[in-house]
Formats: sequence, C-alpha cells, structure tokens
Amino acid sequence: MEKQPHLPADDYPKTIEELESRFSTEEACRAYLWKLRWPDGFRCPRCQGARVWPTGRSNLFECGSCHHQVSITAGTIFEGSRKPLVQWFRAIWWMTNEKNGASALGLQRVLGLGSYQTAWAWLHKLRRAMVRQGRDLLDGRVEIDETYWGGPKVGKRGRGAKEKALIVIAVQENGTGIGRIRMARIPDISGPSLEGFIQATILPGTTVHTDAYRGYNGLNSLGYVHEVTNMSNSDVPAHVAMPRVHRVAALLKRWIMGTHQGGISHEHLEYYLDEFTFRFNRRTSKSRGKLFYRLLQQAVGTDAVPYSSLVGGSSRPKPQDVVDA
Ligand SMILES: [Zn+2]
Repeated sequence: MEKQPHLPADDYPKTIEELESRFSTEEACRAYLWKLRWPDGFRCPRCQGARVWPTGRSNLFECGSCHHQVSITAGTIFEGSRKPLVQWFRAIWWMTNEKNGASALGLQRVLGLGSYQTAWAWLHKLRRAMVRQGRDLLDGRVEIDETYWGGPKVGKRGRGAKEKALIVIAVQENGTGIGRIRMARIPDISGPSLEGFIQATILPGTTVHTDAYRGYNGLNSLGYVHEVTNMSNSDVPAHVAMPRVHRVAALLKRWIMGTHQGGISHEHLEYYLDEFTFRFNRRTSKSRGKLFYRLLQQAVGTDAVPYSSLVGGSSRPKPQDVVDA
C-alpha cells in the first residue's frame, strides 16, 4: 500500500474561490507541497536526517545534519519551472475540473499564458503524473479487447493496421456496469505484447474474457481464468458479447475527437490514454477538489519531465531544450 500523506482527508479546496483564496501566494503553495512530499515529516534525500532549516531562498532548505540543500520542487514535475506555483495550482485545478479534459489552447486562455508551447508542455507533464506507480490491479471479471486509432479505416486486425496505433483496453465488470479500466498502446498484436499488458494490469486468478484471437491463447498458463467468446461462430456481435470494452473504446474515441479534435499524434497517444483512464476511473467522484488533491499528490511524486523528452527526444536532455514551462 502507498503511504498517504497525513493531511486531513478533506484538506483541499472545494471551490475555485477556495482555491484562489488559499493558494494566492507562493508561500501557501509551497507549504502544501511540503506536506504532500514529506507527510511524516522532513527526511533529507541524502542522509535521511530529519532536522531542517531555511536558507535565504524561499524554495531551498538545508539539511541540519549533512547541510545538503533541498528544494521543495526538485524531483517533481515542477522542477525547473520558472512559472509561479500559484499558476501551476490553477492549471491542476482546471485540468481536474474540466469534465471532458483540457486542451492546450484552453489552458493557455484560462491562465493567460503567453505561449501555447508552455500550456502544451504543462498538460503533458500533468498527464504523466496521472499514472500512479504501483496502482492496484484489476480483479474479479475483466473484458479485454483491442482497438485502433488513426490511419485508414480497415477491419479489425486487418490490412493497413500498421499505420494505426494499437490500443488494448481492459474493463472490470461491475454487475452489468463498468468498474475500473486500464488501457495502453502496445507495439503489435502478438501474444507477448498482449500478455505483457495483462500481467501489468490484472491480478492472476482473475477471469479474463476475450474473443477467440490466438494472441490470448496463453492466458490460462499465466494463471488467469480465460473465458473465450468465439465471435465468428456466433450470431452475437462483439459489442453485445463484450459490451463494456466496446463502450469504453467508443467513449475514448469520442473524447479524442471532441476535446482534442482528433489532433493527437501517435507518439503521444499513451499520455492521452493515461488522462482518459484517470478521468474515467474517477468519473463518479463528486468532489472535484479531491481530484485536484490526488493529481497534485501524484505530481510531487513524479520525476521531473524535461521538455525534450516530451517532444520525443531520446538522448539525454540538454538545458537549452527545457522551455520556460
Ligand atoms: Zn542530509
């Protein structure tokens, strides 16, 4: 289990007015980040010392034992940003409160950011923070199927599929409804690719319901209870036999076309899948403020993401690659 900060369970803003009055200064934002980063009290990342004192600079503290200088934002998605935390907090509020998600143009307008590129980079950093490491696995009964994004329209697993992005979707059954979901872009439709996704997202022993595609043939030997519906031998169409996963695939496509006008490149698709999953799995949450809190909590536990790695740079990022984000 992840350790949760010792903040009161409801210690987050409930309305935008509360957000703006509580987090109107850098000091207030830093104090909140401090509690999220060190819920059990400060620990020096170098020597584990617990004593700490301020330096002359507001974002920097000094370890009382080894004199290591510790920045509150180092190692978080805020590292290296020259923009105020106040603005970041508003971006996170906006991203978690927009029912259908955020576009870079929308964020640029709401925050009055001078640069579209900055808004774009912020949203991608926040999407990365939406994936919680070690999150719990789906269990019970799970439907799995693949869908394609982009490229020419062709039949499933058919010709021309190479130009499309392949997305595999897992949907937990909740009675006749939908529980939690997971999805990922996978490189190909091979058994190892499908099994890798399934092992990363689904607890062994779970009943996994798929169609008769041979790529799923190894599931029993991996410890799952494999339930197969052979669509080609059946009069029942796939969207009836596996209604949940087809519903989620349709919602995903509608979201990509609606919020993002379809303008998602293949290389960044997985981050949008993470955002969709984060939103979908919290769709019944009545408290938008709690989503703000969760995303901020994950943001301080997320490694810094240099701009160059967002735009697909594979080599070690150079300082000049990091935009003013
Ligand atoms: Zn230390």
